[in-house]
Amino acid sequence: MRSEDALDDVAERVRSCTQCPLSSVRINAVPGEGPADARVMLVGQNPGNEEDRAGRPFVGRSGAYLDDVLARHGIPRSALFITSIVKCTSPGNRRPSNEEVITCMPYLEAQVTIISPSVIVALGRVAQMMPRYDEIEYIETYHPAAAMRFPRFRSRFEDDISKVKTYVGRP
Ligand code: SF4
Repeated sequence: MRSEDALDDVAERVRSCTQCPLSSVRINAVPGEGPADARVMLVGQNPGNEEDRAGRPFVGRSGAYLDDVLARHGIPRSALFITSIVKCTSPGNRRPSNEEVITCMPYLEAQVTIISPSVIVALGRVAQMMPRYDEIEYIETYHPAAAMRFPRFRSRFEDDISKVKTYVGRP
């Protein structure tokens, strides 16, 4: 199966998934988006309200900020695969439970296996829950929502995102 088809297959399974209670909270599951040969994956916690409505990752205010940071560093969003560790929103945007993370993890693992990125950028506290692979580099940084809200996090976040540029466009 081609990588693109394998990713589509994961996305379809996510959209119809009812394996944890978050399936009854969501409007849309958010599998993630980006090319199957992306060298960089950005991974957040789980979709917020706007992502839930749109069925797409990072489309709200923090997504607009992320887009702005990427654009200022000459990094095309379309070159990255952007997803989250848990694919459905949660009540009040609470942190997903360990059980929800564990139940949803095979989807992220399948995406990482298919894409085989050079680097994974962990946005926010998800770094503690991220599966680790020896051949992949990790950048742990703040969530864009935190960087947008708290100026003291902003320069570190923007520095970390700028590092991604060296990976984009590599074979
Ligand atoms: S959060 Fe993950 S495991 Fe739970 S219903 Fe959504 S896709 Fe399925």
